[in-house]
Amino acid sequence: MTERQKTISKRVDLQGTGLHTGHAVQLSFHPAEPNTGIRFRRTDAADSADIPALVENVVEISRGTVLGKNGLKVFTVEHVLAAIAGLKLDNILVELSADEPPVMDGSAAPFVAALKEAGIEEQDATRDYLDVEKTLTYHSEKDAIDIVVVPSSELRITYMIDYTHPSIGTQYTSMYSLAEFVEEFSAARTFCLLSETEQLKNQGLIQGGTLDNAVVFVDRELAPDDLDRLRRLFHHDCSVQLGHSTLDDRPLRFRNEPVRHKTVDLIGDLALVGVPIRGHVLVARGGHSSHVEVARMLRKAYETQSLTRKYGSKSGRGYVFDSQTVEKLLPHTYPMLLVDRILEITPLERVVGLKNVTRNEPYFNGHFPGHPVMPGVLIIEAMGQTGGVLLLNSIEDSENKVVYFTGLDNVKFRKTVIPGDQIRFEVVMNLFRRGLCKMRGEAFVDGVLVAEADMTAVVVDK
Ligand SMILES: [Zn+2]
Repeated sequence: MTERQKTISKRVDLQGTGLHTGHAVQLSFHPAEPNTGIRFRRTDAADSADIPALVENVVEISRGTVLGKNGLKVFTVEHVLAAIAGLKLDNILVELSADEPPVMDGSAAPFVAALKEAGIEEQDATRDYLDVEKTLTYHSEKDAIDIVVVPSSELRITYMIDYTHPSIGTQYTSMYSLAEFVEEFSAARTFCLLSETEQLKNQGLIQGGTLDNAVVFVDRELAPDDLDRLRRLFHHDCSVQLGHSTLDDRPLRFRNEPVRHKTVDLIGDLALVGVPIRGHVLVARGGHSSHVEVARMLRKAYETQSLTRKYGSKSGRGYVFDSQTVEKLLPHTYPMLLVDRILEITPLERVVGLKNVTRNEPYFNGHFPGHPVMPGVLIIEAMGQTGGVLLLNSIEDSENKVVYFTGLDNVKFRKTVIPGDQIRFEVVMNLFRRGLCKMRGEAFVDGVLVAEADMTAVVVDK
């Protein structure tokens, strides 16, 4: 079943203060054309270019996700993005009169309310998805973070946090579908520990933080003179009661509000993949930087998926391009086309190709009759063709470009290749600058290295 893309019906405005910068700001959501995605625009900067909400534009993580382009930044985008993605909106322009969206009540709910007020409408374009096809894992030993993404028919999130201090402690939540987002997650607010607040203020963060836009968990004993300082810190005359879990004894909106807020942050950060995801994301002790790393991995998976779909190859059969597709991509035809299949490809990074060596290959007739051995130069040529597929899929306008190999170094033939062998080529891109590319290739038969080379190629117009 194909779904249509969505945007909002009309402009809607919000006013407030940025959480970290403390800057007064006006935010306007505007409808946007199909296939334009989510974009931010700074109206306070002269002729500023839009900043697409994509992971490649993440310039900084500082207690929030920061996007930037051409020197302009937008801080703390995650709650706005969560509201947009949570409502399954595809195309929208977010205008800001300063460098950070308003914090509102510290949750995504006010943005959800504004977007719903504007009205949501379907557009004349099909929605694209990232279908997670194989398990993806992220692990950080230092921060004890684990994130796993597995295939699923829709976006599902399972989140676990464990804070050493019992005021938050261990919490768990599960979102089985985005249909639960508005009611169960969007209102969960930003939180922090009291012991962190002064440090954050000193780092120039949470300048706009008050008890009306964040839940502060009390994780240490308070002395009477702490109260004065806290009053100044939060611009608020709070009555701090010891023995209570939140500052000023503010009630929680959900029993496990912190982990639900982490889920909101994750939904916002995953919007940076650029398309909605069909997959189950399981997170233990995540934060913005790990969320963004996973978004980066998912964005790569999406680029690979787009290539596969563009050339009409069947997925789920263990390879991404079949021989006919490789023939369309490369300027060679049989017998000079020496790659049968592309098994894996990540643009600008790596490609894995396959060649089945059969007795019928024309070169065996003349190459050592009675003792057929695949000529080493053809192994290297096949390796180069595999690299060519990677290179052509790493550039724009590849239909009008051609790849020439200009150099080979460190070529080694380690073992002979004979009919019946299946060669696996693994080529990684080490450098790609101004049309010049350096790649390292290795060829294996049954897991044994048979040949290797460093290759230099240039991309030129046809
Ligand atoms: Zn947040």
